[in-house]
Amino acid sequence: MDFEPSRESVILRDRVRAFVRDEILPAEIALARTLGGDWTRWAVPPEVDALKAKARAAGLWNLFLPEVSKLANVEYAPIAEEMGRSFLAPEIFNCNAPDAGNMEVLEKYGTEAQKVQWLTPLLAGEIRSVFCMTEPDVASSDATNVSASIKEDGASLVLNGKKWWTTGLGHPRAKIAIFMGVSDPDGHRHSRHSMVLVPLDTKGVCIKRMLSVFGDYDPPYGHGEVWFEDVRVPKENVIAGLGRGFEIAQGRLGPGRIHHSMRAIGAAERALALMIERAIARTAFGKPLVNLGGNRERIADLRIAIDQARLLTLYAAWRLDKVGALAALAEISAIKVAAPNVLQQVIDEAIQIHGGAGVSDDVPLAAMFAAARVLRIVDGPDAVHRGLIARAELAKYEAR
Ligand SMILES: Cc1cc2nc3c(=O)[nH]c(=O)nc-3n(C[C@H](O)[C@H](O)[C@H](O)COP(=O)(O)OP(=O)(O)OC[C@H]3O[C@@H](n4cnc5c(N)ncnc54)[C@H](O)[C@@H]3O)c2cc1C
Repeated sequence: MDFEPSRESVILRDRVRAFVRDEILPAEIALARTLGGDWTRWAVPPEVDALKAKARAAGLWNLFLPEVSKLANVEYAPIAEEMGRSFLAPEIFNCNAPDAGNMEVLEKYGTEAQKVQWLTPLLAGEIRSVFCMTEPDVASSDATNVSASIKEDGASLVLNGKKWWTTGLGHPRAKIAIFMGVSDPDGHRHSRHSMVLVPLDTKGVCIKRMLSVFGDYDPPYGHGEVWFEDVRVPKENVIAGLGRGFEIAQGRLGPGRIHHSMRAIGAAERALALMIERAIARTAFGKPLVNLGGNRERIADLRIAIDQARLLTLYAAWRLDKVGALAALAEISAIKVAAPNVLQQVIDEAIQIHGGAGVSDDVPLAAMFAAARVLRIVDGPDAVHRGLIARAELAKYEAR
């Protein structure tokens, strides 16, 4: 086992770190205030486009994609950590969810025509995409429950169903959806589903409403409820072939969970730094906060927790590189539980040290807390991952 980052990885990590520090963080607070909460403004601030152009010109672009960056997951992980320090950074480097996962799907499973039409503009950051799996009417943490329908009709596919929590649906450049539905109701539970590309301006695609997260509509991305009502697309829009939706969903989430977890570690480092700076700078009862009632121990425990989560994530990334997503399922689930929980714990303590300021918009902690809490639900809730880990663990005993 060797988690020593390669030379290439270190060089890129340091350049991303400097870009986040020098270019993105100074812009972040102003942009957060422009974007935050004002859900009528589904517009991209010009500063974001300027930063994206700068990152692209610097070659810090699409680093998540091995076919572009030539980086293994274990090499990309420290770079993703740096991006996690700012909520803006993943988009600036064109490495944000859900676009990164959608680009991976197109790169891995798309036809040449699909790549030319959708992957090329996504890689250029010119358009945005959404992923439509979760449904309001079924427990979607079990992907086999997904019930929207895909029916063949001559040269077309006809799609019907309700989707929600579609991230990015409010973005003015969102052009394409990956839609998951049932194409073979009588098939095996893991081969009943397919994924289909649906341009968002297709007749029958109806955005019903945007959903708030802890009261914030998260512009300009947003999370929407969208209904598909007799939506007709050519059969060529199916990805990889009918019946392969579940397989694609599994493949999509392996690297995505490494990215989420490493970004969570980066965010946790930022929260810990904010906590320590505040604890040193502010005085109560005649002492700096850091020297009051157990705060030093809290800082030590958080350092231990972050370092443990980082090592576990690097281990999962290393396993993913060595044995592939299926064989590394338990390790990937483990970090999907560990990293968001550590992040939530660190931010919670950082908020506490900040007192009232911690829950205001003067520091980014409140928004970070909401993101951490959400991370424990998206891409599989904690309980589902714990179930998978327990199953793998117990299987070792069944053999005896
Ligand atoms: C901000 C945000 C963005 C999102 N973005 C997207 C997106 O872009 N595209 C998309 O398709 N979806 C997206 N989602 C949806 C997300 O992936 C789902 O919410 C998640 O998979 C859980 O599905 P569910 O909401 O149907 O919960 P359910 O499946 O109803 O589960 C609810 C709860 O039941 C419990 N539970 C479920 N299974 C088990 C188990 N095996 N053992 C014990 N307890 C269990 C857990 O406590 C779980 O949290 C997003 C969600 C949020 C909040």
